Order: sequence, then C-alpha cells, then structure tokens
Amino acid sequence: MLAPFRNEPLTDFSNPTQIKAFEAALTTVQSWLGRTYPLVIGGEKIYTDETFDSLNPADPSQVVARFARATPEHANRAVEVAHDAFNEWRKVPYETRARYLFKLAELIRKRKHEFSAIMVYEVGKSWPEADADTAETIDFCDFYARQMLRLGGAQPVEPFAGRDAELRYIPLGVGVVIPPWNFPGAIMAGMTTASLVAGNTAVLKPASTSPWIAWFLSEMLYEDLRLPPGVLNFLPGPGGKMGDALVDHPLTRFIAFTGSKEIGLRIFQRAAVLQPGQKWLKRTLLEMGGKDAILVDETADLDAAAQAIVASAFGFQGQKCSACSRAILVEEVYDEVVDKVVRQAEKITVGPTVDPSHWMGPVVDAKAYAKMWEYIEIGTQEGRLLLGGQPLKHNPTNGYFVPPTIFGDIDRNARLAQEEIFGPVLACIKAKSFEDGMDVVNGTEYGLTGAIFTRRRDRLETAREDFHVGNLYFNRKCTGALVGVEPFGGFNMSGTDSKAGGADYLLLFTQAKVISEAL
Ligand code: NAP
Repeated sequence: MLAPFRNEPLTDFSNPTQIKAFEAALTTVQSWLGRTYPLVIGGEKIYTDETFDSLNPADPSQVVARFARATPEHANRAVEVAHDAFNEWRKVPYETRARYLFKLAELIRKRKHEFSAIMVYEVGKSWPEADADTAETIDFCDFYARQMLRLGGAQPVEPFAGRDAELRYIPLGVGVVIPPWNFPGAIMAGMTTASLVAGNTAVLKPASTSPWIAWFLSEMLYEDLRLPPGVLNFLPGPGGKMGDALVDHPLTRFIAFTGSKEIGLRIFQRAAVLQPGQKWLKRTLLEMGGKDAILVDETADLDAAAQAIVASAFGFQGQKCSACSRAILVEEVYDEVVDKVVRQAEKITVGPTVDPSHWMGPVVDAKAYAKMWEYIEIGTQEGRLLLGGQPLKHNPTNGYFVPPTIFGDIDRNARLAQEEIFGPVLACIKAKSFEDGMDVVNGTEYGLTGAIFTRRRDRLETAREDFHVGNLYFNRKCTGALVGVEPFGGFNMSGTDSKAGGADYLLLFTQAKVISEAL
C-alpha cells in the first residue's frame, strides 16, 4: 500500500558523515564541469553549432556546462513533436504516469547530493539551500504522483435515476514549461512533473542561467526511466529569442511559467492572441514576483523577529520570490529591531559556497550583480545605509558577490519599498502603529508572501483577514514553504493565484470531461 505523503527530510550538515558525502558529491560534480549537452526533440539529441555557457557565479571564468542553443525553428518543431506524442501519452494509464514520478523521486533521492552540488556550482546555492531545493524537488514528484492517483479515476457526481454519469479529469495537450533559475531544481521539476503526470506532453525551456540541473533531471527521465520520445522535449536557449515562438504556437495548449512580472505579463498577452489554426484558448499559469514584508509590532519576540528577517532577507542572497525585502517595524520598537537585524546580518559570511563556511554566495549573474549596485545607489538616495553596500574586499575569483545590505528610514512609497530587487538588499520601514503597518504591508502591487510577529491574538486574526498575500506566516520567517503543508503562490501581480504543492494544483493541468449514459 502507498504510504502517506511525507516531506523529504533535510540533510543534517552537523553530521560528519553527511559532510563527507556532500564533499564527495561536489568532487564528482566538479569532474563533470565544462561538458556539452544537447537539446532534445522527440528523443533525438541535437547538438547545435551555436552554444551558450552556464557559468559559475562564484567564478564566472568557470564554465559549468555548455549547451546547445535552440532557435525559434527548434521551438516550432518541439511543439509539433510534443503534439504528436500527446495522442499516445494521454492514453497511458494515470497509475503508470504516477509511477514515473515515484521512480523519479527515488532516483533523485539516491543522487541527492549530486543534484544539490550541481546547484552549488550553477547558481551559487549554499549547501543547506541546495539541499532544501533538492528535497522540494523530491517532494513535488512524490506529491503530484499521489495527487494524480486521487484525481485520475472517475470522480463522483450526484446519482440520478436513469443516468450513469461520471466526471474525469483529462489532460490539456502540449504544455510549454518555462521555469526561473532561483529554484532551478524544485520549480523546474514541479511544473514539468505536474504537466506530465496529468497526461500532457511538454516542452521544457530551462532558464539560461540554470540549464544544467534541468538537464540532469531530464536525463533521468530519458535514460533511466525511458520516458517515451516526444513526451518531454528539452529546449535550452534564450527565452528572449525563442520564448515567443513557444508561446505563440497554435498547438501550444498551456504555458506554465514562473519568473518575473515583466515576462509573465508578456506571456499573458501573447497567449491571449488567437493564432491561425488554433482551436482553444491557451491556459496560462504565471507565477511572478514579490515584494514581501515582515511586520513586527511592539509586543513581538524581537529576537525571533530579527532572526526571521535576516534569514528571509539574505537566505540564497535574497533571491527567493518569497524573500523579505521590507521589514515593517512599529515605531516603538523600530530602533531596537533594526539594531538586532544589523547585528545579526553583520555575522553573515559571504563567498564561494563550495566552502560551507560561507552562508551567502554570489548573486546569479552579471546582470543581477549590476542591478544590485543600481539599487544600492538608489537606496543611498532614499534612505540611510546601515550595513553592506560595498563590494567585497577579497574577491580573487571576481564572483558576483554582494554583501547583505540594509537601508533604514525608507519611505513606504520609495522605489526600494515598491520594486522587486531580488537580491540581498533589505529596506526597513517605520510604521506608526500596527494598523498603519498593515497599510504598508498591502501597499505594493504584489501579494506573494508575508509574515507578522506579534503576541496579540487579535492582531493575528486581523492579519488573517487583511494581510493580502498568498502565503501568510505568523511568528515565523516568510520563506521556506513546504510542499503539501504550505502550498505556494501569490496574489495580484505575483501571479495567477495557483498553489504549487497544493491539492488543487494538478487541476490546472487538466480539463473536466463528463460522460453520461442513459440506463
Ligand atoms: P525571468 O527573467 O522572467 O525568466 C524566467 C524564464 O522566462 C526564464 O526561463 C527565461 O529564459 C524565460 N524568458 C525570458 N524571456 C522570455 C520570453 N520572451 N518568452 C518566454 N520566456 C522567456 O525571471 P528569472 O530572473 O528567471 O526569475 C526571477 C523571477 O521569478 C523573480 O521575479 C521572482 O520573484 C520570480 N519567481 C516567482 C516565483 C513564484 O512562485 N511566484 C517563484 C520563483 C521565482 P532565459 O533565462 O533564457 O531568459
């Protein structure tokens, strides 16, 4: 019998055996650096003349992997091949499709540290951050497989004399899967496996800063699990050059995207345009940015609040959609909390994350690095620099390191308080009262995550109603949602209101068909 879903445990890095195992995985992965990987259409591996490199952000002179570069022509072909494969794949029993995911979870579990080590090299995750990403990847496979078993059969409808009726969730068709680089394992795997287990075929276009981990997972499906050709097509290459072709294709049935508001809106608009020969309205699942806040009132446990702010603001260099980029502090405790946050953040070590003594690594690429310094410049105009804001003194590899940077006295409407920065830059904002703080909380166009620290039950209840975010946390940090336990996704400009890792997520990848026979 199938055991109930349980979240994959995190690795205990205080255990010397685990440390050794992770070091061994880093060594193995290091020996793979610089290899060239293909794109895959219909099971055919294609090596193109033009390639692009995935670089180590801690040492951009190091090519971690080289990839075939897909063109709009490849994109068109991939959608067409996926469309052909759909006719067979949709008829594969849902139990069999679920089994692929259970087996995939098992394979990743066996190679867990290699999976994580790739993310250390490719996007600069620290050991625990990479390990959490891997655990979430396993969780998505295990969770969606179970959900498919629940949703796959005939669903109950009300009985009626003389009718034998049933409702079934059937797949949609070809899905274009476009993940970001910041959870390059979990989000990529989550959107891909949800598409496939529901009976759709897919074209996976990995983020150009993290194609390697997407290849690692795709290769397991191709080589170890022998997924039928054409069911998953792997298309590395610049989204700006071939993303439109994937989205616009008349045979594309849905687009599962996670990334910036800018690209999400572009996809939303383009998908709405009916193309010649197109027979359906394209569905879009668009999970976008955030400007997440932690609100602290005068009754809160201030040490716990400061700890949560630092963990949420600077974990993985602040590059989580759920990262705390606004600390909203009631004026009675503003100075004290700011002081605690700064003192705690001062202790953060920054450097290449192959070395586990570095809590923070680099930001992901040259573009992100340049953007951080622009925002730091804006911050110095808009507020008071309290910590960081200077390049590392010691940076022999020219890695994209930005220290934890904190600005105080930021106005609630300042750019630093409104725009998604997506890096280790925290804005501290003073609120007159808890009620005023609640206004600040909801004062951006986003609505992804948020947290409140208070000892007052009535305020928690007010927040429960009025703090308008998809994931709201009480007296805990605003990052680290668990699959199945805290289904994830935001409101407003943060996305199309879906909940990854939730019981209703797979429904977004299906349509309901009713069959009724006269008795
Ligand atoms: P991004 O720049 O929007 O890129 C996301 C993906 O879109 C990448 O694969 C990118 O490919 C592709 N893309 C670029 N241009 C495209 C086009 N014209 N058509 C189709 N696809 C295109 O975002 P990112 O920098 O990777 O990720 C960070 C963002 O993701 C942040 O805003 C963060 O808040 C958000 N995010 C949201 C959630 C959530 O659940 N709400 C979770 C994680 C991250 P290339 O890499 O080739 O450009």
